[in-house]
Amino acid sequence: MEEKDIFCRIIDGEIQSNIVYEDQDVIAILDISQTTRGHTLVMPKKHYGDFLACPAELMGKVMNVAQKLGQAMMRELGADGVNILSNVGEAAGQSVPHFHVHVIPRYLDAQGGFRIEMQSQKVNMLELHDLADQIKESL
Ligand code: 5GP
Repeated sequence: MEEKDIFCRIIDGEIQSNIVYEDQDVIAILDISQTTRGHTLVMPKKHYGDFLACPAELMGKVMNVAQKLGQAMMRELGADGVNILSNVGEAAGQSVPHFHVHVIPRYLDAQGGFRIEMQSQKVNMLELHDLADQIKESL
């Protein structure tokens, strides 16, 4: 049998965590490493490896909770903004192979946090058009 990932172990109650929300399908816990004050992870209880593997109906439930958490962070923690983020694969920085969404409150005057630096490359309009077609056709 495959070894359980850390979030499955938390969901099964084998490892302690700070649960901020839980229902039959979804759980949200504070991230052990607080990028900002209130950084929370929301995930399905059933194991799916990443965002791309999660069925649509369950995705809706996870994102509903992420939205509620974001609203609560603005209201109760005094956040000025929120990042919603899900890493897929090592290349994108995923370190735990159990689908989860980061809900990260942002504060205008706080230390820490992070910055997403887009390293944009110039492309010509024809290339963009072909790229759009390629993605569109595979959906
Ligand atoms: P990823 O890098 O996969 O997008 O995010 C994984 C997150 O899980 C990281 O932010 C990391 O701090 C968090 N994490 C890893 N191990 C634990 C743990 O045992 N408990 C909690 N609450 N968070 C964890």
